[in-house]
Amino acid sequence: MAYPKSVADTGTVQNYVGGEWHTPSGSDGRDVVDPATSERLARVAFSSPDDVDRAVRTGAEAFEEWSTRAVEERIQPLFELKRLLEAHHDELAELLVREHGKTRAEAKGELRRGIENVEVACGIPSMMQGGTLLDAAPGIDESAVRKPLGVFAAVTPFNFPAMIPLWFLPYAVATGNSFVLKPSEQAPLVAQRIFELIDRAGFPDGVLQLINGGVDTVDALLGHDGVEGVSFVGSTPVARTIYETAAANGKRVQAQGGAKNHIVVAETADLDFAAEKTVSSAFACAGERCLANDVAVVEASVYDEFVDRVVSEAEAQTVGSGLNPDTDIGALISPEHERRVREYVGTAVDEGAELLLDGRDVSVEGSEDGNFLGPTLFGNVDPEMTIAREEVFGPVLGLMSVADLDEAIGVLDRSDFGNAASLFTASGADARTFRHETDIGNLGINAGTAAPMAFFHFGGRKDSFFGDLHAQGEDMIHFYTDKTVYIERWPDA
Ligand code: NAD
Repeated sequence: MAYPKSVADTGTVQNYVGGEWHTPSGSDGRDVVDPATSERLARVAFSSPDDVDRAVRTGAEAFEEWSTRAVEERIQPLFELKRLLEAHHDELAELLVREHGKTRAEAKGELRRGIENVEVACGIPSMMQGGTLLDAAPGIDESAVRKPLGVFAAVTPFNFPAMIPLWFLPYAVATGNSFVLKPSEQAPLVAQRIFELIDRAGFPDGVLQLINGGVDTVDALLGHDGVEGVSFVGSTPVARTIYETAAANGKRVQAQGGAKNHIVVAETADLDFAAEKTVSSAFACAGERCLANDVAVVEASVYDEFVDRVVSEAEAQTVGSGLNPDTDIGALISPEHERRVREYVGTAVDEGAELLLDGRDVSVEGSEDGNFLGPTLFGNVDPEMTIAREEVFGPVLGLMSVADLDEAIGVLDRSDFGNAASLFTASGADARTFRHETDIGNLGINAGTAAPMAFFHFGGRKDSFFGDLHAQGEDMIHFYTDKTVYIERWPDA
């Protein structure tokens, strides 16, 4: 495995500030552990408020020059970063598998979407343009221009440790801002390695900073006057707090939270196709995806047929190390998280759900110390059960029977979350009803997982999102710039 050199040299995950590597100076820290083997991969020390202050001040100094560079010049290091990410794709994917537990194919897919965001940000000369209207009033021309604002920060979760930082970073710097990333302390190595590539891509020192840490590090960022805005992705309670605190401190903020997503299966659907996509949506990345559709809401007339298909698809899933090419379901991020998911399984049994497939007895040869749970299926799930309402974030799928599409949409409406949902149907009318009558940010029709490409925003509503401008694409340009209007009159003309 190509290990981050900055970590190999020190044994500790490093901060990258002002173009140099520094060991975080806070007193707390934790081990980074391979979830498939429990092998210790590195130590992450947490940044102190002084470390955060230094990163933000350095970013503010770099902003002075960077924000005035020609936009064409600003995107050249991004082209180089794209080249480096492509050249190191396999190596980054392997590191991601080791620290996260997902499969190699999933890691490569994640990196692909991250690189796509770099590609989109290379189009900033077109995307960042304002607008001009001649003769907006008699003898008056009016135009709007976009300007960068200063230092932006992003705080990111463990489950997509390469892609989610890249939802933000390329757009922040392409628009002329400087940027501070605080990755998840559970999976910080791939971000470290990406910053080693950033170090070679030609950005001026101080434009991009990496600081490692936990809650206190985030608090220091939120309380720092030099931070213009914060992007957050993580669990709902933290997203809500970050949104409130950042806003109270006068910062721009976008905070994406947790989820509970549904697949609706209509009686007209191709049931084989729907079952295959349902299983991959629920179990890919061991269910640790904010877009995982882990409740299937099925029209009663096809419920039994659909359940049979899902059971046989799920039984065929292979559990194991993400490095094994045959693995479908990799390890869960930590023993604590595995315990939590197993508790959800126990609660579903206690609440009367029908256990169709029990993944609790799974054993993985050669990975006896890993955090594994096999594919687990529940039938006859009721909308009021815990498993139907709360985010499980594990390979657990519930199946529910409803009379018709209206009842299915009612189930989705009652959910506190609004991140994603999919409908499997052969009816355009059903698809239209679904689109119009649901309050959900990412919708799929005959698509198992509604994951938007980088040139579209990544949706999310209700308790899945706090803010207005979303990650990825054009929304990022709006988040990272402010607009000035020029009104021009030349009386002699
Ligand atoms: P998390 O909320 O525990 O942590 C996310 C980040 O916040 C980490 O960097 C962590 O250090 C920091 N953090 C944690 N507690 C904090 C606190 N009290 N104050 C300040 N900062 C804090 O989330 P996680 O377990 O890393 O990620 C999984 C969650 O992220 C799931 O709920 C998942 O649905 C969600 N997620 C959402 C999206 C989306 O687009 N909506 C995408 C990916 C993941």
